[in-house]
Amino acid sequence: MHNNLIYLTDGRGKTDAAEMTDSDWDQLVVDNRNSTRRRLVKCAWCWDDDQITHWMKTYNNAHGKRVVSHQPGEAGDHPYQALESDEHKAYCDRVERVGTEEGYSARREARAADGRTRSDVLLLGTRHVAYEMQHSPFKTGYGATERTRKSLAAKRDAVAWHTDSGIIAGAARVAMLRSNQAQLPQIENPRYQIRILGGFRQIVIWSCTAREGYRCPNGRFSGCGQTHLDTAPTGITLDDFIRQAPAGTLLPVLPLQRRGFWTTAVDYQRWTDYNAGRPVLDVDPPESPDRPTQEGYGHSRPASVKNHLPSVPPQRTMQSFASARTCEAGRTPCGQPARPYAAGWRCEEHRPSSR
Ligand SMILES: [Zn+2]
Ligand SMILES: [Zn+2]
Ligand SMILES: [Zn+2]
Repeated sequence: MHNNLIYLTDGRGKTDAAEMTDSDWDQLVVDNRNSTRRRLVKCAWCWDDDQITHWMKTYNNAHGKRVVSHQPGEAGDHPYQALESDEHKAYCDRVERVGTEEGYSARREARAADGRTRSDVLLLGTRHVAYEMQHSPFKTGYGATERTRKSLAAKRDAVAWHTDSGIIAGAARVAMLRSNQAQLPQIENPRYQIRILGGFRQIVIWSCTAREGYRCPNGRFSGCGQTHLDTAPTGITLDDFIRQAPAGTLLPVLPLQRRGFWTTAVDYQRWTDYNAGRPVLDVDPPESPDRPTQEGYGHSRPASVKNHLPSVPPQRTMQSFASARTCEAGRTPCGQPARPYAAGWRCEEHRPSSR
């Protein structure tokens, strides 16, 4: 749903039209039938950003879906955005403060040049990192994948998704940092440490012999003799993450994948080197449950690592991702400037038909 954030001038204030009850919405549709005369529903984006009053139309489309729209020609659609909670604001305040103290310039709710992409806090270091705090479950069609793509297409270098909800982290299809659940006074307290518990990992490369005590991902009991790569969770605080990511010392691996994670620039390079020259997968492979672990094969792995990513299969390297803003169509990639689609990066000529 576009334009979901509205001001209701009858005293209800800022409201998420997507979250209204059916009866409230139905009543609003009736009351607001003559939207410009009634002056009941005001666009929250146009007001919050530019103090411009736009009276919005509210109706149901042919499929019965809620529609909030500007008058014709007035302004473009605004992408779905959740109404911010106090905790959400506090996290953004904290990230802005820590980033600014570190010497970065920080912009709240920054708009990209296309005018349609927002981030909670945009941190401008040697890299432009969009910080996005996610409290409520993503809405269908306006999830993190689409928003991350838009953000990357808008020339941000990375999107740092953060949640304090295990449910959101588990459902996310992008690299997502998960922290301990903090209360509002803790989030506001600079001395309270918000620890990243998930989504920040280290790269482990080992040579596969029986002696090493790891499970061989190729299923060899005695070890296959090759080197394998795996990842393991490691610790960082949110504040340290914010101090380092805009400097490029922390980088996301597979940012558009469920198994994506952040790591140090050093480990990122090791990951890239390890995967160099290997065949790449699509950016967004079809939804599949996590790969079954190969328990029962080979030697057992240390328990602390067991529940985390299995060894990384052949896949797109970050290097190819970073430079993949050229069209990937064809066996010998076409190479023209491209935009991201579900199928990968495509130029105008090779973009998937919208028929
Ligand atoms: Zn507007
Ligand atoms: Zn092996
Ligand atoms: Zn092409």
